[in-house]
Amino acid sequence: MQLINEFYPLLSQPKQIVITMHQKPDGDAMGSTLGLYHFLHNRGHQVTVISPTNWADFLEWLPGIETVINFEGHREKALAILDKAEILFCLDFNIFYRTKHLAPFLASSKAIKVLIDHHEQPDEPNFDYGISDTGKSSTCEMVYDFIVEAGGREELTQDIATCLYTGTMTDTGSFRFPSTKASVHRMVAELKETGFDHSQVHNHIYDNFLESRLRFIGFALLNRMEVLYEYNTAIMYIHQADLQKYHIKTGDTEGLVNYLLTIKGIRFGAIVIDRTEERKWSFRSKGGFDVNQFARNHFEGGGHANASGGRSSDSVEKTVAHFKQVIQEYKNQLQ
Ligand code: 5GP
Ligand code: MN
Repeated sequence: MQLINEFYPLLSQPKQIVITMHQKPDGDAMGSTLGLYHFLHNRGHQVTVISPTNWADFLEWLPGIETVINFEGHREKALAILDKAEILFCLDFNIFYRTKHLAPFLASSKAIKVLIDHHEQPDEPNFDYGISDTGKSSTCEMVYDFIVEAGGREELTQDIATCLYTGTMTDTGSFRFPSTKASVHRMVAELKETGFDHSQVHNHIYDNFLESRLRFIGFALLNRMEVLYEYNTAIMYIHQADLQKYHIKTGDTEGLVNYLLTIKGIRFGAIVIDRTEERKWSFRSKGGFDVNQFARNHFEGGGHANASGGRSSDSVEKTVAHFKQVIQEYKNQLQ
């Protein structure tokens, strides 16, 4: 993978560009791809964002989202566009399998592949150019850097600012995680100069759910949470029937894992949700416990040191039992 600086000259002529992100895109994945989309589109490139799967309703208002192609629902259209792409940007993931069924098509694409990402352990040989920086708060912050370094500081618009603020806000827990360096606040100040409405972003993302989702959270906290004080760990497990009873959709469970870390003394929070195809884990930690490594070691996953995810083909009961087994190895680290 060559340095991103060497890539900028390739944008001097209009290009056919595809931008993609990880499956079930979150605020950072969707915000970064759309932020880059607006920048490149305004510069005269032919740009399409392809999402590997659907996304949460709370992202549906983002400027440009109506142009995003969902690969699951529009496979032929997405593949025809991918086939013509000269440049393929891969944002907020660093290994193809994170794009699920889109992965083999990305791997075989003849486009120049550019990585912009902040997760651990990038699969560098599969990208031609790129930047991987685990010190960055969000991929949105990295897209901002990309725009500035490409000489585009004067080209920041309200739409770009809205998109980049969204992902930075969601990936930093609203600017509270340690990854929120001074440079993040400087970037936000500059984005704010465009005049975009940051309060609206918070409203759209955090205050836009149905009553049933809040009832579901109450139910889960009361009936589906266990606190393992010996390990300073709290876990939660959600069954298919729970999701159905409360009409839970993509995105409705996002942030649930963070409640576990609000208990005094708890340093490791883990939640498993029974998705149709697999049991999906989310891991969060405070301080030195490395959940990226934990997810890699035990649940076929990965991510960041304090936020990661994984999966299991076992039943909820079995995978929770497995969790309770392996956590014993970490007793010293967690105390
Ligand atoms: P979440 O729990 O919000 O789904 O994911 C937390 C972080 O871990 C995100 O940055 C996400 O991209 C990453 N992540 C989630 N699941 C997986 C996985 O199965 N594999 C890898 N490598 N990363 C994951
Ligand atoms: Mn991210």
